[in-house]
Amino acid sequence: MKVIRRIEEIRKELKVFRQGRRKIGFVPTMGYLHDGHLALVRKARNDCDIVVVSIFVNPLQFGPAEDFKRYPRDERRDLNILEKENVDVVFIPSAEEMYPEPQLVFVYVEKLSEGMCSTFRPGHFRGVATVVAKLFNIVQPDIAYFGEKDYQQLKIIEKMVRDLNFPIRIVPIKTVREYDGVAMSSRNAYLMSDERKVAPFIYKALSEAESLFQAGEKQAEILKNKVRETLESKSLNPSIKVQYIEIRDAETLEEIDEVNTKAVLAIAAYIGNTRLIDNIILE
Ligand code: AMP
Repeated sequence: MKVIRRIEEIRKELKVFRQGRRKIGFVPTMGYLHDGHLALVRKARNDCDIVVVSIFVNPLQFGPAEDFKRYPRDERRDLNILEKENVDVVFIPSAEEMYPEPQLVFVYVEKLSEGMCSTFRPGHFRGVATVVAKLFNIVQPDIAYFGEKDYQQLKIIEKMVRDLNFPIRIVPIKTVREYDGVAMSSRNAYLMSDERKVAPFIYKALSEAESLFQAGEKQAEILKNKVRETLESKSLNPSIKVQYIEIRDAETLEEIDEVNTKAVLAIAAYIGNTRLIDNIILE
């Protein structure tokens, strides 16, 4: 496994594979890897000749009051994990390597970058789309893998690839969960033990709403109220502070009142100081 930190070097390394018509799979991450990331890596390993994983905590996608500085990092551990997964190339650029001068070009995917997480994280998806576009230009993969856990991000990247004609196939991967339903996330490491105990209620609330939907309830308001009831139950200690509960069209991410086509039910909530997101597809 090659660990590469410079753009020029990874370009040189991958050029040889590209000329040999080897299929390149790419998994962009911010590191502190867990089994959710590994589901993407394993799918890439299965589909492609060459697997490239990037680890880059992108300053451009964090707001000034967000957790950029304290975001969990453990390069040595990540490299050990990736080595065991038979990854070919790990790209770990510094912020200076990615942004040697102030970035003046940005990718902003209209409409899809409005509402949901962006209401609470202004500029976040502009930072995500911009860094992913840069990474795509650096790695030039045939296929790139993204998790459904970050559903709005996935839809934004898919649209970016279509509208900017990146010759890259985007493959979505189902959310990987802990034994108790908690969606795996690097940020779960922030949770204190009492906070971790209430975290399963997020998926529980989503699942209850899904059951209600499967039983015939199509009204978004009623489904969202069901979720809110569970999350804001007085018996939860510590409490879960809901940021949003939304039901949107699964492709356009437009708000809907009635679930008649495939839809996403998405939540963002704070447990203590930790912001968690999760979602479920209704279809
Ligand atoms: P991150 O390191 O959080 O930027 O995530 C890197 C990639 O892994 C993104 O495409 C995420 O959507 C994906 N991912 C993160 N957590 C999960 C999970 N629990 N299940 C599936 N994919 C995930």
